[in-house]
Amino acid sequence: MDIDEARALDLSSPLAFARERFRLPDGVIYLDGNSLGALPKAAPQKLEETAERQWGEDLIASWNKHGWIDWPTRVAAKLAPIVGAKPNELLIADSTSICLFKLLATAAQARPGRKTILTQRRNFPTDLYVAQGLADLLGLHVKAVEPDKIQSALDEDTAVVTLTHVDYRSAAFYDMRAINEAAHAASALMLWDLSHSAGAIELDLDGTGCDLAVGCGYKYLNGGPGAPAFIFVAERLQDELANPLRGWMGHAEPFAFVDDYSPGEGIMKFLTGTPSILALAALEAGLNTFDGISMADLQAKSRKLSDLFVSEVEMRCGAEVRLASPRDPARRGSHVVIAHLEGYAVMQALVARGVIGDFRAPDLMRFGFCPLYNRFEEMVQAAKILADILGTGEWDQPRFHRRSKVT
Ligand SMILES: *Cc1c(COP(=O)(O)O)cnc(C)c1O
Repeated sequence: MDIDEARALDLSSPLAFARERFRLPDGVIYLDGNSLGALPKAAPQKLEETAERQWGEDLIASWNKHGWIDWPTRVAAKLAPIVGAKPNELLIADSTSICLFKLLATAAQARPGRKTILTQRRNFPTDLYVAQGLADLLGLHVKAVEPDKIQSALDEDTAVVTLTHVDYRSAAFYDMRAINEAAHAASALMLWDLSHSAGAIELDLDGTGCDLAVGCGYKYLNGGPGAPAFIFVAERLQDELANPLRGWMGHAEPFAFVDDYSPGEGIMKFLTGTPSILALAALEAGLNTFDGISMADLQAKSRKLSDLFVSEVEMRCGAEVRLASPRDPARRGSHVVIAHLEGYAVMQALVARGVIGDFRAPDLMRFGFCPLYNRFEEMVQAAKILADILGTGEWDQPRFHRRSKVT
């Protein structure tokens, strides 16, 4: 495809207007929104207002006057249409790792006598570490199997299954409904990590029968570096499940200051400590970038972007590179990995030319596509630059090799 054809696609895209919601530096093709979403234009002002007007002028009265106390649920409600859940099933809290710990622990406790946490090998490291740590604490055992063996590994000892929905390396994703049903047939609970799914593809947590989920605020949700995470607990489970990491903010009456814990209503009990208001302000600006966006349009554009990128890269770079993601765009999330033996140096050379992706060992160059701001034109340009770097051997300079970082 030539640049003019790609520009025509951009002009006719129903999401073209959303790019204006972001501040992106000139001369940069940003394909790393799956690691850190771009800055929403409204975020600095939102942060300034929260700091200057609220914190600065109204001080502690802001907890009531500006409703800070409700922000973990008020901001979470904006996620409801993005993930296909009810507002009262969502909460913003902590980091993804901590949220995982909380939900994994409550799930394990809800299945007394069962000793297995089932997960997949090569899951995102934090997911495995959290499961291992919890297993040590509760005398459980982590069973990690190949992705296609999850269903057959389920048995009467499985308390909870925990999986990352979209694989952070390959972008392959699980059939949410099928895995939920299999877990339920074995009377186990299912916990999804949606870090590479939320804001990237169309989700229907309620419609597919999800029990529990967590996800990351700083990737496709554009919540800013270190943004808090989110928790999803299906309404039907909220009475039954308890927060294992009890804190005063999850208490029914935080300001009664009583000695004994009694859990708050519904999703509220999953709070632990005081929410980070400034971080919530930035995350709210991130979630606002989805205002009026149809997730079906977003998913359709994601697939078209990645499909165009892959075909341009393969056409221009030939056998030197290998697609290491599912070929069918309907079977992957919103990123792709392209393998090259010298992937690290090639990615460094790309970054030096303004094409920002990232690298995952051993040889994977990862490119993320954010349908709200990435353009078709960028797909063609990035593929051209990659082909140029490979064709000229531009990547093979000491400054692009790992060694040079140490010296
Ligand atoms: C990015 C990511 C996380 C992030 O965890 P934090 O605790 O927020 O740092 C967790 N799980 C997956 C699958 C991720 O991709």
